[in-house]
Amino acid sequence: MSKPIVAIVGRPNVGKSTLFNFIAKKRVSIVEDLPGVTRDRIYMDAEWLGREFTMIDTGGIEIETTDRILAATRHQAQLAIEEADVIIFVVDGKTGITTADEEVAAMLRSTRKPVVLAVNKIDSPKDEPAVYEFYNLGLGDPIAISATNALSIGDLLDRVIELLPQTEDAEEDDDVIKVAFIGRPNVGKSSLVNALLGEERVIVSDIPGTTRDAIDTYFEKDGTKFILIDTAGMRRKARINQPVERYSVIRSLRAVERADVVLVVIDAVDGVTEQDKKIAGYAHEAGRGIIIVVNKWDLIEKDSKTALRYTENIRSEMAFIQYAPVLFTSALTKQRVQRISELVKFVAEQHAMRVQTSVLNQVIEDAIRINPPPTGRGTRLKIFYTTQAEVKPPTFIFFVNEPEIMHFSYLRYLENKLREAFGFEGTPLRLVVRGRK
Ligand code: GDP
Ligand code: GDP
Repeated sequence: MSKPIVAIVGRPNVGKSTLFNFIAKKRVSIVEDLPGVTRDRIYMDAEWLGREFTMIDTGGIEIETTDRILAATRHQAQLAIEEADVIIFVVDGKTGITTADEEVAAMLRSTRKPVVLAVNKIDSPKDEPAVYEFYNLGLGDPIAISATNALSIGDLLDRVIELLPQTEDAEEDDDVIKVAFIGRPNVGKSSLVNALLGEERVIVSDIPGTTRDAIDTYFEKDGTKFILIDTAGMRRKARINQPVERYSVIRSLRAVERADVVLVVIDAVDGVTEQDKKIAGYAHEAGRGIIIVVNKWDLIEKDSKTALRYTENIRSEMAFIQYAPVLFTSALTKQRVQRISELVKFVAEQHAMRVQTSVLNQVIEDAIRINPPPTGRGTRLKIFYTTQAEVKPPTFIFFVNEPEIMHFSYLRYLENKLREAFGFEGTPLRLVVRGRK
């Protein structure tokens, strides 16, 4: 189910990322130190009083067209207005109201989205009088916080979750595979979607998506049911000749949230970009099935090794998703477009696969025999028992004597053994280590 999105906006240096980092629940991830995943992190799953949401630091969203602070801040606020469910507007209690603050406030006043005004850097009670000035922004009662001293962040979050939309009980039909096409403008997403939906023997219908003006497309092919998430723009576009759309990170993120399988579409000529890595990294962390689609393959001059070399390059650029299959397509010539739905179906199955406990434990025992677990604290790690706790993505719990001795590289090794034994192609795996009481 899709989590609501909370966006932090405000001009540079007011303390957005400090606040963001404080709130975001730290999740232990076995990929923590792989490049491209956690650096410049701008989204995080967070939770307060049992409500889960995705938090975005819009200050971290790269704006391509401008280097001016005001324009950049305004643009980020615009993104938040378009895509977020609740907006936290952070201002600096030490500097007072600036022109940029006033501009952003004017934009926020004219939206119907709920806004929480946070006056940051109120580090002690004696700073509090500075807050009153901010009533002039016309955004209701400001909340005085200190991100560095962790003051009143709880009050801020209380206000935020009051304003979150009620999560609709999603139409959870487990038979339907939810698919998101993600990628920069112009890589050919619309063309691929239209080619896919234009195939014979495809039954298509539109259903409203969760965001305003989002339309999902339902289709059936060879007895498998799919929902293409947020396809409205894509299907429309190929009919009318629309200008190149802006790349909306938040919109992509929301689509990833809702998907089972994410297709990261890359332009064969341009290759992998930073933006592609970020979105793929997010899909990985969110535990979605991932397929890399290299489109416009018709534009590449090829010899017998081209695809192999291209794949190797992608593998090194996106080292954190070695498991993702790479598909070379052309929406123009329809080359391998047919393969897309087959591969999505396959990856969705891998993503939802549950393995037998007895076989699982056999595989782990064999792995331990070949390569014994690490030692530390004067003892050797013992893995007593392994169980698959969840699917989508497959999540394994290892019950051990001393969790602290488990080493990143050994988890890596176990993950590889699980993949050798069971496949799990196209899906991230989660490996959890627990001490046995
Ligand atoms: P951003 O550009 O809005 O993301 O701002 P940062 O989070 O990078 O913070 C800018 C500066 O303000 C940093 O030097 C922070 O240490 C400082 N800062 C952030 N929050 C507070 C706070 O609550 N009190 C004080 N005194 N300084 C803060
Ligand atoms: P989107 O912005 O990602 O949805 O991209 P579009 O589907 O609108 O495609 C952008 C441009 O690339 C259009 O001019 C398409 O005709 C062209 N295009 C899309 N796919 C291919 C392809 O496989 N090969 C070639 N040569 N051009 C393509």
